[in-house]
Amino acid sequence: MTVEAPGTSPDSNPNGESYFAKAKKIYPQSIKGRFRNFKWAFMVVSLGVYYFLPFVRWDRGVGAPDQAVLVDFPARRFYFFFIEIWPQEVYYLTGLLILAALTLFLMNALAGRVWCGYMCFQTVWTDLFMLVERWIEGDRRVRMKTDQEPMTGKRVGKMLLKHTLWLMIAWWTGGAWVLYFADAPTLVKELAFGEAPFVAYLWIGILTATTYVMAGHMREQVCVYMCPWPRIQAALTDEWALNVTYRKDRGEPRGSLKKMKARAAEGLDAGDCVDCGQCVAVCPTGIDIRDGAQLECIQCGLCIDACDNVMDKIGKPRGLVDYDTDINIQRHLEGKESIYRFVRARTIIYVGLITLVVGLMAYTLVNRQLVDLNVLHDRNPLYVALSDGSIRNGFTIRLINKSTTARDFELSLVGAPEGFSLKAVGIENDSPRMITIPIDQDITKELRIQVFAPKGAKLDKSQQIGFNVKDSETGEAQTVTDYFKAP
Ligand code: SF4
Ligand code: SF4
Repeated sequence: MTVEAPGTSPDSNPNGESYFAKAKKIYPQSIKGRFRNFKWAFMVVSLGVYYFLPFVRWDRGVGAPDQAVLVDFPARRFYFFFIEIWPQEVYYLTGLLILAALTLFLMNALAGRVWCGYMCFQTVWTDLFMLVERWIEGDRRVRMKTDQEPMTGKRVGKMLLKHTLWLMIAWWTGGAWVLYFADAPTLVKELAFGEAPFVAYLWIGILTATTYVMAGHMREQVCVYMCPWPRIQAALTDEWALNVTYRKDRGEPRGSLKKMKARAAEGLDAGDCVDCGQCVAVCPTGIDIRDGAQLECIQCGLCIDACDNVMDKIGKPRGLVDYDTDINIQRHLEGKESIYRFVRARTIIYVGLITLVVGLMAYTLVNRQLVDLNVLHDRNPLYVALSDGSIRNGFTIRLINKSTTARDFELSLVGAPEGFSLKAVGIENDSPRMITIPIDQDITKELRIQVFAPKGAKLDKSQQIGFNVKDSETGEAQTVTDYFKAP
């Protein structure tokens, strides 16, 4: 065994002290207040939507799935209420991702890590897991005390109950996720009777494990060590963004209420902070906001609630800990009034870009083609010279009917020289240059087409021709060009 001399290990400092410390267990205390209420409300709404949305129905007509939100992999469709996205329209997804990023940037420019504090999945589920923990094992002080005591049967029972409830929530989280990928009521029945596809059980297992570990055990460590957003956010923010801050100018010098009263009576400076530690006790990441801006702060506002409650009790104005900007922290220290600037270059740019992306997506959705046509020329042979002197070219045509009813599509040859004609295997012609093809709703139909140039036609080696498809009911049409090959 090799024994390293003090100061020679890369894991310790020259005095032999390790750079690594065991993560400190955090016991966040429950708190009441306006930010806590907002967090509860957001949690109820967001979890309600997540768990129950797969059961919301949306009538799309006969033969189409009636689930409002559905990712239908076998049919290669994504349904979102009245919107139906086909694989070739995946740019909508790109648009949504850009929109999500821009919205996050805008939120950051206005109110810092408001996403982390209220809306992030990690925050929402961790809050729920902590609620269960407090309900079973008690609040901060009780848990801190019992953690020091020897294990008893009662404590083991409580731990078992807590972990069972955590696992049930985690399981339901994974269960709800897979319901977005199949008809929810059917899949629930299949899951109940063990008849669901293996992949459904696999995803439920993965999400159960990740939710249980991340929300139950890792908690603030996910935000502090794993998530890239705090680092990116720190680079994106500016001095005008609102963040949870401690008003040093008001709070310092701090001390117990008794001490502060004594100082005030002697005519000495006495800050409003009574050093009660409530802001630290409620913090889900265990930090002291009075130390200034920190990467660990998820901006949840719970320390504001805690301090406001203290201020109410001691008869001082609220807001010793509050959302404020770096500019105002400095101004307060200089004895100046607060100023706010929500409309500035970066917020204008973000709002402009969001409006542009939303506008583009709305425009393309409204003007979305329900008729689509793809044409592929045969590669081998490029052409066939027939015994009657005519030349034949073969094409594979793919017709797409994105509407919710069966339609007749009129396929015609356009822009081709006189005498050219087309034929489809097994379909009667309406005219030499046109055929009508019935297509069921919401499907893609592929068929073989032959185009003929008559004997004696003056032909280039390659000349442009066009295929036009028209929905006979709505008149919606699309034209695609290709080339007719000749010797
Ligand atoms: S310091 Fe305050 S705002 Fe920041 S994480 Fe802790 S409680 Fe939330
Ligand atoms: S809750 Fe307010 S008064 Fe109490 S320690 Fe924190 S900042 Fe000071």
